[in-house]
Amino acid sequence: WLARWEDADVRIDGDAEAQQGIRFNIFNMYQTYTGEDSRLNIGPKGFTGEKYGGATYWDTEAYCLHFYLATTKPEVSWNLLKYRHNQLPQAKENAVKNVGMEGALYPMVTMNGEECHNEWEITHEEIHRNGAIAHAIFNYTNFTGDKSYLGQYGLEVLVEISRYWASRVNFVPHKDVYMILGVTGPNEYDNNVNNNWYTNLIAAWTLEYTQEVYNYLKEAEPKRLDELIASLGLSDEELAKWTDIQTKMYYPKDELVPDVFMQQDGFMDKEQILVKDLDPKHLPLNQNWSWDRILRSNFIKQADVLQGLYTFGDRFTLEQKRANFDFYEPRTVHESSLSPCVYSIIAAEVGYEDKAVELYQRSARLDLDNYNNDTEDGLHITSMVGSWMSIVHGFAGMRALENELTFSPMIPKDWNGYSFNMLWRGHHLTITSTRDHVTIKQTGGTDVSITVYGNVVNVPANDTVTIETVKA
Ligand code: BGC
Repeated sequence: WLARWEDADVRIDGDAEAQQGIRFNIFNMYQTYTGEDSRLNIGPKGFTGEKYGGATYWDTEAYCLHFYLATTKPEVSWNLLKYRHNQLPQAKENAVKNVGMEGALYPMVTMNGEECHNEWEITHEEIHRNGAIAHAIFNYTNFTGDKSYLGQYGLEVLVEISRYWASRVNFVPHKDVYMILGVTGPNEYDNNVNNNWYTNLIAAWTLEYTQEVYNYLKEAEPKRLDELIASLGLSDEELAKWTDIQTKMYYPKDELVPDVFMQQDGFMDKEQILVKDLDPKHLPLNQNWSWDRILRSNFIKQADVLQGLYTFGDRFTLEQKRANFDFYEPRTVHESSLSPCVYSIIAAEVGYEDKAVELYQRSARLDLDNYNNDTEDGLHITSMVGSWMSIVHGFAGMRALENELTFSPMIPKDWNGYSFNMLWRGHHLTITSTRDHVTIKQTGGTDVSITVYGNVVNVPANDTVTIETVKA
């Protein structure tokens, strides 16, 4: 445990409750998964409750992976990726047998690779999870700089997921676009919608990334690529088709709110009510309203468009993020514990400090304080990782771009400062943020360049570099 804390601890100066919360959360992440065995995964309740049956969800790739990438050796994250590769045969069977499609559709919920969920709106329609599994391959490669997964296992998974997307889209000739109809986005308070923006985005991105990985292997591992082309039966026509889909993907818009990415077609046809205007006796909606009423309303269970802005953060401007936050946050009830952390991260990025803190607090001590009155069902493991994400990706603004690790720290008003340990490409780093300074300490290692507030700083081995804090 001492060694774990050296790699993963987060210290908060000036708020003992927040300190206890984040340590409790990190402790439970490592109680749940340590990554020695690629047959194992992370249940949203860990081993602390029977809800969710100990099964694997997209929570692993979209959330938990970020934590393991930054706090432990790459083999742990590799094993999380390998888990899905092990289950590729079942995912292919699932696509063909259950939904009449080609390629691979990973299950929403699984123990052994087969779908374990029992609602068609989820199993057949909440297909965005396939994209998270593809995106995890990108995240692993991008964060660790280790490209060896791509040729060994990655391309096989990417090709089969791309095949699924290519069979699931439909071309609309009179509009010259591809659409994805009849889906459920991350926001499960809408079912069977057409063109969920996030799903269309992550599908198009998968097709683009598969081509990118193909091009990379052509240069770097041509022999392996030839083997894969033969075993997968991949042709130039198929790749060209994927490019066509990706470039002609349709994204819903509405002239009523031109700066906002529409969550799905027809969203603005719903009666537009804000959460603040609801009588609090209706909340939580999932305990007070019928499904029919929830599905017809404009209330959003969890990050959906915002999930896309977080996942593909470098593709959108601060103005776009702000406009979408301003529109969606007042309509979001956060009735999934996966939601507040994503909103908190975007709030921190666009400079909404109070919102970032308020949303962070909803996940920081969710179980210690039994905030949602449901801890008896077990701990919210994904939300626990979410609180780590809110500090590291949110307050500290950590982003991993190709070969570049960047930070732009801010501090919640009630804290004097915070500090966290992390690993990046063999460098053991401690990032400390106070009102006046940001310091980056490297323990051991070799020279490393880190970008802080847009400026590149060199941190020598066993040394500490101090930069002035940029005030918002
Ligand atoms: C959320 C899903 C999540 C699942 C397990 C549901 O309430 O809507 O996105 O995968 O919980 O955490």
